[in-house]
Amino acid sequence: MLWIRNGIVVDPKNKINAEKMDIFIKNGKIVEENEVKKEECKVIDASGKLVVAGGVDMHAHIAGSKINTGRTMRPEEMRVVRNIAGKFRATVGRVLLTAPAIGYEYAKMGYTTSFEAAQPPIGALHTHEELDAIPMIDKAALPVFGNWHLVFKCIEEKNMEKLKALVAWAIERSKGFGVKVVNPGGVEAWMYGGNVKSLDDQVPGFNVTPREIITWLIKANEELGLPHSVHLHCNNLGVPGNYQTTIESIKLAKGFSNAKRQVLHVTHVQFNAYAGSSWRDAGSGAAEIAKVVNSMDNVTIDMGQPIFGHATAMTGDAPFQFSLHKLIGARWSNKDTEVETGAGIVPIGYLPNNPVHALQWAIGLELGLLVDSNKVALTTDYPNGGPFTEYPYVMAMLMSKKMREGELSKVNAYVQKATGLASIDVEKTLYEVIHMTRSLPAKILGLENKGHLGIGADADIAIYNLNPLETDTSKEFEKVYKMFKSAEYTIKGGEIIVKGGELVKEVYGRTFWVDATKKADIQAVMPDIREYFNYYSVQLGNYGVEERWIKKPARIEVV
Ligand SMILES: [Zn+2]
Repeated sequence: MLWIRNGIVVDPKNKINAEKMDIFIKNGKIVEENEVKKEECKVIDASGKLVVAGGVDMHAHIAGSKINTGRTMRPEEMRVVRNIAGKFRATVGRVLLTAPAIGYEYAKMGYTTSFEAAQPPIGALHTHEELDAIPMIDKAALPVFGNWHLVFKCIEEKNMEKLKALVAWAIERSKGFGVKVVNPGGVEAWMYGGNVKSLDDQVPGFNVTPREIITWLIKANEELGLPHSVHLHCNNLGVPGNYQTTIESIKLAKGFSNAKRQVLHVTHVQFNAYAGSSWRDAGSGAAEIAKVVNSMDNVTIDMGQPIFGHATAMTGDAPFQFSLHKLIGARWSNKDTEVETGAGIVPIGYLPNNPVHALQWAIGLELGLLVDSNKVALTTDYPNGGPFTEYPYVMAMLMSKKMREGELSKVNAYVQKATGLASIDVEKTLYEVIHMTRSLPAKILGLENKGHLGIGADADIAIYNLNPLETDTSKEFEKVYKMFKSAEYTIKGGEIIVKGGELVKEVYGRTFWVDATKKADIQAVMPDIREYFNYYSVQLGNYGVEERWIKKPARIEVV
């Protein structure tokens, strides 16, 4: 039992804004005061300190073949020593951290949940083995659907029952959490060396279009009643002028509704928010996108904020990765055989003096500032935009125009004419930024017990040495940055895992997965699955992951 005394609580889901409160914890949950015996509680004195829910990263690449390939491609990444083996495991990694380092670094920052945002279903076992190697945090993975021949076949046949059955079956087999869609149709076109360029291009070899893939998957997702919505990486990522495709894609959510959450989450929008016709005249489409997102009540986005310094691009968007490799001349790895998707990896670094990188940096911030705080979550699309360990930089930037002015003076002047960042006066409040990093991502993912401090919530809590009643987040940005980098306490499932910014205990979180098999007639699609497995490199009986193979599985049944 734990008793957090006199903390200053910011808990947007429960509309608590900097109120002095006590929090009680029992059996890993937040409970009412009368449910604990105070004399038996371990007491944390949080006087003058900020108490919030543990951070929730809704989109990062933390496990599976992509990050592993990245590690192999970048031996220099492994030369940064983070932790010498002792009480805790040895860890290395500059941006591409080793698995234990991922858990440790999230914990030190006060984050307690992170989702792997792209898992090829056939690679699910690898993803789960690696998720199991990440300590400290709760996690899950999103299987990818937007380029799978079986998905195309169901849509071609206009057979929604079959599509729902396939989605429910694949999520169960891969022990996944939801429906990720990456460059729908484009990765299939890449198998022939091409890409799709608009929502209405026909996918080679199939009578379907990206527009149909997205809308059919939204419909299947909603009819199955999955906790999370369709999670979309739009077409034309990384292409100047792509903001219009992004807006068209966002508008596909019209006509769908869900009382609890959005029906479409569009991810790392920074990479899909470029105006112009080439990199010579590229500009920002962020304001136009923000206008559309703000006008709709069933769409959310996340930023995909670039951080200056090292990063590594890794996505299921194989054609984009090839173009990036051609554009910047960096190394390239690709995987598009024997998977239900594709993938590419390209090392990259963001330089303040580079006009394109500065533009990307400014667009990410514009999105974070201009989109309603109830609709934009904070991400760097780790490690595509940079390390998650720099979330505090983004948090501080959103809250301080003064900090942004200082940073703007150091970057390529091209951003002054190509974006509106310099003229944005918005300063998000601490309450809004806590929402964007906790309660909002939890709500977007459909995790009811995460991201807040209400009774019954998981006791995942961060305490920072920052008094919100005495801190001017606009002026004291250096302090804000420093405090969010290093939590005074991180509590995971009721256990203190970080104290004074240092790890004190290793714990293992749960892996959430969603079972919607009762919501669909799985047999409707089994003949097709069996037929397709004549061409797979594994047998159907060897496909997928059993729950007992996962260290701490947490099944969420959809009924
Ligand atoms: Zn991503």
